[in-house]
Amino acid sequence: MAVMAAVWLAVPQGPAPGAAPVAAGRTAAGAAVAGPGAPEAPVAAAPSNAETVALGEPTAPGSALYTVALRSDDTGHSWSGTEKISFTNPGKVPISEFWIRLWGNGPTGCGDTPPERISALAGGRIAETTQNCTAYRLVLDAPLAPGARGEVGFTLAIDAPVRQDRFGVNGVDTYLGNALAVLAVKDENGWALPPYVNFGESYYSLAADYDVTLDHPARLQVPSSGTVAGEVSVAGDRLLTHVTAAKVRDFSWSAGAFQHDSVVTASGVTVDAYWPNSESDSRCRELMRYAADALDSYGKRFGAYPYPRFTIVFDEFGSAFDGMEYPNYVLSSAHEGAVAHEVAHQWWFGLVGDDQYRHPWLDEAFAEYSAEEFQGGATPAHGCDWIASDERMDASMEVFEKAGDPLYHDAVYHEGTCMLYDLEHTIGRDAMNRVLRGLVDRYGYGVVRPEDVRAMAAEVSGKDLAGFWARWRNTGE
Ligand SMILES: [Zn+2]
Repeated sequence: MAVMAAVWLAVPQGPAPGAAPVAAGRTAAGAAVAGPGAPEAPVAAAPSNAETVALGEPTAPGSALYTVALRSDDTGHSWSGTEKISFTNPGKVPISEFWIRLWGNGPTGCGDTPPERISALAGGRIAETTQNCTAYRLVLDAPLAPGARGEVGFTLAIDAPVRQDRFGVNGVDTYLGNALAVLAVKDENGWALPPYVNFGESYYSLAADYDVTLDHPARLQVPSSGTVAGEVSVAGDRLLTHVTAAKVRDFSWSAGAFQHDSVVTASGVTVDAYWPNSESDSRCRELMRYAADALDSYGKRFGAYPYPRFTIVFDEFGSAFDGMEYPNYVLSSAHEGAVAHEVAHQWWFGLVGDDQYRHPWLDEAFAEYSAEEFQGGATPAHGCDWIASDERMDASMEVFEKAGDPLYHDAVYHEGTCMLYDLEHTIGRDAMNRVLRGLVDRYGYGVVRPEDVRAMAAEVSGKDLAGFWARWRNTGE
């Protein structure tokens, strides 16, 4: 997410001479899934999260394929249809139950009719819900043996609330961020079932394949994660848009009578841009090209963007946020700072995943540092003074929810960016580039943890950086 409006000139930067990738090693809780047309992973297929769960305990389902068919009403505000999740048991003991997240219920809670509802389960049943109807425990009809593949299916109904938000109706346009039911993650901390948070993210999911068919009025565009595999006109001026997305950790889309343009980057990625009539055509086209430049610049520094399409929707969300990241797809205010930040999230969150509730700095600090350097900032855009004596960069969203948005913003975005500039200064530009590229090589499609970042920096630089991390209040203690 981006919540700031710093405007900097764009000076694309490539990798320093001699930058070399770090050898591939352990990948954390990432279940890489190779599907038809899947982009090549920079390292061998990541092991599942099974290895991080105590031996003898059931794991979460792995190698998921989500198959979704939804039909909208005439406005695009409401959708209903089916979702199927097929998966393997990557562990050593049978799986009899697991959790899924339905994040659209986060802002409003359960109520009489929550915005998102699942019913008519096949292959299992709902045993429990928690966290304001954002978490559902599903019990399988029959336990799934180790190595076997299983499936659950259900009907899914979505009514986006009128709310200027990533999940909501903004004006007449509908934003369906994190609206599909997604498997929860079980890692060394157990099941990750954090509550929804308003001013940041609680999302944590593993790479999977998505096959999504959206039946919508032909006058509405449906920008989304993934790549359009086909469009078929059907009766009543409707369009069936079939989208596939391989090796992504979520799938989001929007629906509106958007303007649309596209450009192919120098490295061959199609950038699709959409915007409502309230936005300036010329400005959005300019920012589309800016996003394309950012995509290629980050690709040179961190490792190529491995998907065929990147989609960006320019719109204003008032005080809610300046931008919001999803795999292959972002929402952004129409200014360079937000665009540069959200594009950087394609690496820091999209490829290199993290538990965004437990360690929000992991994706936000890296995205903002990347963006500020892409924008030409030789030094951090904000001051590097802690605003509170007990502030810590490595705090969780639980702590920041109690502390409030200003502290979250300062610790994670400002101090986090300052810390990464300082790390670059401490170990040198060349080593910094190798740390960044090494994280993408080693944890791409997987999950990175704070100790992995610290270990990578020590490994690449050959320095004892314990004092550095302590100074930045980022020791995980
Ligand atoms: Zn962000």
